[in-house]
Amino acid sequence: MQGTPSSVILTQSQLAELEKHAKKWLPNESCAFLLGRGTEQVTVSEVMVVENAEADRVSFAVPADELLKAYKTAEERQLQVTGIFHSHPARPEPSSTDARFMEINPVVWVIYSTTENQFAAWILADSMRQVEIVVR
Ligand SMILES: [Zn+2]
Repeated sequence: MQGTPSSVILTQSQLAELEKHAKKWLPNESCAFLLGRGTEQVTVSEVMVVENAEADRVSFAVPADELLKAYKTAEERQLQVTGIFHSHPARPEPSSTDARFMEINPVVWVIYSTTENQFAAWILADSMRQVEIVVR
């Protein structure tokens, strides 16, 4: 599909920040917004960590005001909310619940596994596809 991201560019320090955030929230899942630019190749320029409103081990929810703040910040900086990050106490693969929300939010979903210390990125565009993570 044209315009669907096939890769997402993150810096080493952004990944380190997400990893730190994920570990801080253990044993619960954590989440963050990835602000940036690009369609086929998404470049993340800003990581906005948010609290997990559900404070749950196997699910996450973003507080509504945080969501508004993310979109407002993105607009102010002429960026887009290009990705959603959350962590898993399991393999970095989308759960069936994730898939449902990915359908509503067709951006890049970056998942960090706190058990495997591994990142993976996905997008649901017609079908579930893995997005390559490029580290800069
Ligand atoms: Zn998940």
